[in-house]
Amino acid sequence: MRYVSTRNAGETVTASQAIIRGIAPDGGLYVPETIPSVDGAFIEALCDMDYRGRAVEVLGLYLEEFSREELADIAAASYADNFDCPAVAPLHILDEDTAVLELWHGPTSAFKDMALQIMPRLLTASLRKNGETRTVSILVATSGDTGKAALEGFKDVPGTKIMVFYPRDGVSQVQKLQMATQEGSNVNVTAVDGNFDDAQTGVKKIFADTDFAKVLDSRGYFLSSANSINWGRLAPQIVYYFSAYCDWVNAGRIRLGDSIDLCVPTGNFGDILAGWYAKRMGLPVGRLICASNDNNVLTDFIATGVYDKNRPFHLTSSPSMDILVSSNLERLLYCLTGDGERVAGYMRALAGEGRYAVDEALCRAVQAEFAGGYCTDEQCKEQIGKLWRERGYLMDTHTAVAGRVLDDIRAKEGAVRPTVIASTASPFKFGGAVLQALGAVTDETGPALVDELSALTGIGAPAPLAGLGEKKVRFTEWVAKERMQQAVSEFLR
Ligand SMILES: *Cc1c(COP(=O)(O)O)cnc(C)c1O
Repeated sequence: MRYVSTRNAGETVTASQAIIRGIAPDGGLYVPETIPSVDGAFIEALCDMDYRGRAVEVLGLYLEEFSREELADIAAASYADNFDCPAVAPLHILDEDTAVLELWHGPTSAFKDMALQIMPRLLTASLRKNGETRTVSILVATSGDTGKAALEGFKDVPGTKIMVFYPRDGVSQVQKLQMATQEGSNVNVTAVDGNFDDAQTGVKKIFADTDFAKVLDSRGYFLSSANSINWGRLAPQIVYYFSAYCDWVNAGRIRLGDSIDLCVPTGNFGDILAGWYAKRMGLPVGRLICASNDNNVLTDFIATGVYDKNRPFHLTSSPSMDILVSSNLERLLYCLTGDGERVAGYMRALAGEGRYAVDEALCRAVQAEFAGGYCTDEQCKEQIGKLWRERGYLMDTHTAVAGRVLDDIRAKEGAVRPTVIASTASPFKFGGAVLQALGAVTDETGPALVDELSALTGIGAPAPLAGLGEKKVRFTEWVAKERMQQAVSEFLR
């Protein structure tokens, strides 16, 4: 299988090349030329496998240059006791029609681990397949969780270095501390004086600078990304939707072939897009519900076909969704149109005017598969409190946004369809907001909130979060957004 850029369908590359490059030379994102399809027997067979086996089967369809043996080794190393439960991504059944797919049992307690524990292994294998000898240097712009997950994934992986930029005032105190205490000899963490979009734009500029690439090449380095635009990030996320479906079948609630909806708290549109790929492959998914917080640019896009980032930027208690440019949407637009020039036009308009409008046919094609909705911070906290009181289940702020949007849609439609909610973070990662939602009054900040939430709910915190307060802070630097490239140059001496 070959991969094409979303902006120019001309040149094609292999999966390993797409993973090495991260982003295409024309600025587009790599997508598989055709989406593989599976039948009921494929899904039935997955039902009898553990998470690793499911990963081998699903990834094997996209990564043809990797032998099954190679993929089995990679999956076994990636999804092992670095996750705190054997199911890796367990399905928590909330009620008859609602299941919560817990994607946060990895080392950083957020869903990005699902991809970032495996992606560095896919990347280093890809480098070997292509005879690359230079050191791959991963640059990441993060709204919080990606950065830590990438650092954990790449720390001390031979032949790699990693540098993470995060918005100085756009991540939670726990997220900041998680990154500042990162261990490993090949890592760097730097704050940017700006918001997430500033950090992401800065990283994109560095990638696009060919002169800088030559300088780095002369030092034995080349740049790649671990952001959700890398195909090596997206492909592993397809696996867990299959896994959730199988677990629900195994629990006896749905029968093989029954259709389910997916409801996904969305920022950069990666997680939900992986669900869309699963649907297109043949997983019985009815529709995908794209849940946003007050930064509801996607809700408006799905409703009107106009993507307009010219709007106030809100800092919310679900910071990983505080995003106005959802990069992975570009992949959907390409897959629905097959027209790279048109997509390139939209992206030029987005970069220039901050806005683009798709035509009616494309808007309808999006609406045929996606529903959108958003909720306020207030409603998100109500949802957390309500679920805890009524069901004894504790959700983080991002998951609660999805839960609330789903409840609203069900109320509006007066109908309930079996739905899997993607749960993207442990509630302990956003302890302050969760405590508030439970009505607790606290003067604590940072890691102490983890203990306090644990004491209040009687639920044990994930080990890496519980021990955060004792770890040594290693990184305290920040830079102006104009000086990000200089910081990279200093790291890659
Ligand atoms: C990254 C993240 C999201 C958003 O996922 P996208 O793939 O960017 O849409 C939601 N919740 C949490 C906790 C995250 O870390």
